[in-house]
Amino acid sequence: MKNIVIVGAAGRMGKTIIRCLQSGAVHGLKLSGAVDLWDSPDRGRDAGLAAGGREAGVKIASDLADVAPQCDVVIDFSGHQGTSGNAPRVADWKKPLVIGTTGLTPEEKRVIETAAAKIPIVLAPNMSMGVNLLFSLVQKAAEALKDKGYDVEIIERHHRRKKDSPSGTALGLGEAAAAGFGWDLKKVAVHGRDGLVGERPAEQIGFHAVRGGDIIGDHTVLFAADGECVELSHRATSRDTFAIGALRAAAWAASQKAGLYTMRDVLGV
Ligand code: NAD
Repeated sequence: MKNIVIVGAAGRMGKTIIRCLQSGAVHGLKLSGAVDLWDSPDRGRDAGLAAGGREAGVKIASDLADVAPQCDVVIDFSGHQGTSGNAPRVADWKKPLVIGTTGLTPEEKRVIETAAAKIPIVLAPNMSMGVNLLFSLVQKAAEALKDKGYDVEIIERHHRRKKDSPSGTALGLGEAAAAGFGWDLKKVAVHGRDGLVGERPAEQIGFHAVRGGDIIGDHTVLFAADGECVELSHRATSRDTFAIGALRAAAWAASQKAGLYTMRDVLGV
């Protein structure tokens, strides 16, 4: 049994991961620690009960140092500052780390890359099998449609509480399309359009973020040409898909060498 610590245990994803862990969605894993902010209303509660599952015998703590040194793998779905602050500490404890947190700044990503010199880290903006397959399909489609007059636009929809925009998944899809076209995403990305923006240049990837209600996560990549449109889409119908992916990543990371990995390494897609 591998002992798992969840950071962000009182959040939407933390609770879903704990429920999936308890349901045995991925074998050989056991909850050994749960951490959230000191002012979380769930701090001190049993992590399983707080997640809507059964009693886990693990209380939600506020200091990672109390639980991580004894575990086998840390899974972090918290916030960008917390995640980048935790990575060097987890590296010092020599524990594999799975990061699902999005909205990381370039500097925070560099901190994580440095930590990955000491431990295996799986960093993925989306842990679902379907989205990781979509990354590959989008890159293949862009390779096939390159220089043939197709414009690329990415539309994502999420719940009203999501903090970062566009989603990490939308950016990942943009990276996949840019790689297929041979472009640098930083030079071609445009976020929303407003006012007299003029005609659309060919070398551009447009991102559009819709926010509302409880939408878990929808992504569409549109390849539009004169006379036709190709749309590649994914719709998450439950957070379980991300949670099960995170647990698979934890089981996989436990036996890897130090390095920075993605879900495509874990799932082999
Ligand atoms: P949420 O706001 O419901 O939960 C985040 C939790 O982390 C909260 O309980 C918060 O108190 C806690 N937290 C914040 N900073 C912390 C810190 N320093 N230490 C400990 N706990 C801390 O958000 P969510 O919907 O659960 O999403 C969490 C993150 O995961 C977001 O970045 C989101 O975009 C990302 N996400 C990733 C995937 C994926 O597949 N990779 C899927 C869904 C969400």
